Amino acid sequence: MKKILSTVLCIVVLFSACSVQNSKKAKYIFLFVGDGMGIAHVTLTEAYLADKAGEIGSEYLSFSKFPYTGFVTTYSASHFTTCSSASGTAFSTGYKTKNHMLGIAPDSITKLKSVTYKLKENGLKIGVSSNAGINHATPASFYASNISRTAYYDIGLQLWQSGFDFFGGGSFIQDKGKTKDLQSLEEITKNNGYTVTRGIKEISDVSENTSIDKVVAFFNESDDVQNLSYAINRKPGEAKLSDIIEAEIKFLKARENKGFFIMAEGGIIDWCAHDNDAAGVVKEVIDLSEAVQIAVDFYNKYPDETLILVTADHETGGLILRNSNGYASFDGQAGSVGTLGENGKEICDSINKEAGVRFGTKGHTGIVVPMYAIGAGAELFTGKFDNTDIPRKIMQAAGFEF
Ligand SMILES: [Zn+2]
Repeated sequence: MKKILSTVLCIVVLFSACSVQNSKKAKYIFLFVGDGMGIAHVTLTEAYLADKAGEIGSEYLSFSKFPYTGFVTTYSASHFTTCSSASGTAFSTGYKTKNHMLGIAPDSITKLKSVTYKLKENGLKIGVSSNAGINHATPASFYASNISRTAYYDIGLQLWQSGFDFFGGGSFIQDKGKTKDLQSLEEITKNNGYTVTRGIKEISDVSENTSIDKVVAFFNESDDVQNLSYAINRKPGEAKLSDIIEAEIKFLKARENKGFFIMAEGGIIDWCAHDNDAAGVVKEVIDLSEAVQIAVDFYNKYPDETLILVTADHETGGLILRNSNGYASFDGQAGSVGTLGENGKEICDSINKEAGVRFGTKGHTGIVVPMYAIGAGAELFTGKFDNTDIPRKIMQAAGFEF
């Protein structure tokens, strides 16, 4: 009898543990995308940090110690090796499209609905952010659709139409169109109910004023360049991805009652990898790690309601890590390839060689990318799955139908 009672008790305890587990819905959701960040990019950054600490091995990044990990397939509807807009479409809408298309089906007609719109319908505040231009492929995948990812003006016009709450990043690419004779996208966005801010201080002041409910916050230094400075070139006081995340959380948390969704892209990892610039890659991955740490600090305050995902859209560069003489050479690189003058490529190649790093390509590769997850619903993001599963799993974690 005693044995039966304790068995029953055990089942009851197990059942209630399950119920608690199931009742933990993700209310605050972060999706970080390291553009072009393969597992080798993460491993190299961890090895660099270990080397700086005087050790051979691996030092954790803010996200590489997350308890749940997975592998994500990235192929597009047209190519085994995807581009950022096809991949962005897959993990924003749950459907694959052809390379260079954005938020639109392979038939070039059917518009695909981003998960951001579905979450908004369920009452969540929406933030879309990147250290690249705000109408660049990955952020654009979360609010726009076009048959071409480079139709920047048309994509930019769709930003205010989304009605989303916070946009943060570099300013509009082709603000006045390709021929620079159209009405400024920034002006149109302002005329349609958005407050547009510049720099860290302005958005911080606007955040305090809760009568302002929709904002586009630009963090780039000058409109000559529509992205934030590369980490390796950054001067003191210039904004970085973590500044955007800090402002984004502050703005959205003060205005939500049903939660928020933040998509944040570390867009420059990809550009450094295209340049086969390993030092640049490492500094960008550290930037992403610091931005994720801001979300981790938030998670620590709301652990039962927060979900943080960190993944990539594809791998860039076919990065190979061979035996290294250490990674001190990375700190000796004075800037990104483009800023090193005529011999930039040679300088970079010799620094890569010293670090035992090689690149297999100047383009993207089709290898699976990692997924790191922590918090409410994080257990859904384990094993091997497709990038189109990501928005479906996000909706499930939040307790909504896809
Ligand atoms: Zn790329």
